[in-house]
Amino acid sequence: MIEETIFSKIIRQEIPTPLLYQDDLVTAFRDIAPRASTHILIVPNNHIATVNDVSESDELTMGRMITVAKKLAKAEGIDEHGYRLIINCNEDGGQEVFHIHMHLLGGQRLGPMLAL
Ligand code: 5GP
Repeated sequence: MIEETIFSKIIRQEIPTPLLYQDDLVTAFRDIAPRASTHILIVPNNHIATVNDVSESDELTMGRMITVAKKLAKAEGIDEHGYRLIINCNEDGGQEVFHIHMHLLGGQRLGPMLAL
């Protein structure tokens, strides 16, 4: 069995973290160490470790992550100025928590897309 991460405990509210959004497929909450004025994580409720583990049966969930990101960007008032959505995968991608999550970053002019 693939090991759960802290995100599953947040989704189940076993670790109390204010939720910005939750439905049957995804949950969103603020990043604990924000890299921008707005830094929100959008995660599938089911544990999927990395993008490599996404299957066709996850397509609805992955699409929901984008529509929720769009709604949260509007709620944060950053939709018009713009924002960035990022999913890191494995070591080279800089993934630290092995439960897929989409970073929603904005509220300021973001730097270059890649810092190598
Ligand atoms: P990754 O590098 O895996 O793409 O991003 C993991 C993100 O999860 C990091 O930005 C990190 O700050 C955030 N994070 C790690 N642990 C926690 C936590 O317990 N609560 C919250 N809200 N964010 C976390």
